[in-house]
Amino acid sequence: MDKHEFKEWLLYHTSIFRSLGTWIAELPPNPPDGMASRSDTTDFWCRILRDASLEDAKAATERLAAGLEPEPRSRDSIPGCVARIARQIARDRAPPQLALTRPIDGEATVRCAQCEDLGMIYCWSAFSMQAVIDGTFGTRRRADGVIVHNQHVYGASVPCTCEAGDPWAKKRRGLRFDPKKWKPVLPYRMDERKEQEAFVEFVDGAYEEWLGTRETAISTESDF
Ligand SMILES: [Zn+2]
Repeated sequence: MDKHEFKEWLLYHTSIFRSLGTWIAELPPNPPDGMASRSDTTDFWCRILRDASLEDAKAATERLAAGLEPEPRSRDSIPGCVARIARQIARDRAPPQLALTRPIDGEATVRCAQCEDLGMIYCWSAFSMQAVIDGTFGTRRRADGVIVHNQHVYGASVPCTCEAGDPWAKKRRGLRFDPKKWKPVLPYRMDERKEQEAFVEFVDGAYEEWLGTRETAISTESDF
C-alpha cells in the first residue's frame, strides 16, 4: 500500500472500529518535543502495512470485525496484526499453478523454509540499522503509557535467496537476504524492548558485513 491506499484503508478500518478513529483524531497534531504526533503514529502504521495490498488489508479488517481473528492486544499491535492477517490472506490466495507448497507424507511443506515461499523476509530496515550506528534508534514509553516511536523503528522486506526472491531482488538491485547482515523481525515485536536490544546487539556484530550492501539497501528501501 502506498500512502493514499493506506489512508483509504484507515478510513475503512475506523469506519468499522469507530473508537479507534476517535482515538486517532484526538492525537495531538503538534505535541511538545519528543511526543508522537498524529502523523507520527499514522506514518508508522503506514510503514508497517506497506507490504500489504489495500484489498488484503481491508479483508483483514473484515476478518477482525467478524471475530475470525484474535483481537489485537492493544492499539499499538493493530497494524502488525492487520499486516499478519493480510499476509495470510495473500498466501491463501496464491493460485494453485503458482503454489510452491507441496505435501510430503501428507504434510504441507514449503520449498524455502527461510521465506516460506513468499520470496521476502521481513527484517529490521536499513534505516533502523543505520540509526543504531548513529545512536538514534529506539522506542520509549511516555509517562501516560503511550508508546512513542522514534522514526527509525521499522522493518522492511528483504528479498530471499531462493527462486521466489528473484523478482524482488531485481527490483532492489540484486539485494538479497543474508543472515550475517539482516535480522528478521515480526512487525508486532518491533516495539518490544527485548527485541530491540537483540537488534542493537546484532548490528554491533553485523555492521562490517552490512556496509557492503548499505547503499543499495538504503536507496532501494526509500523507493517505497
Ligand atoms: Zn525463500
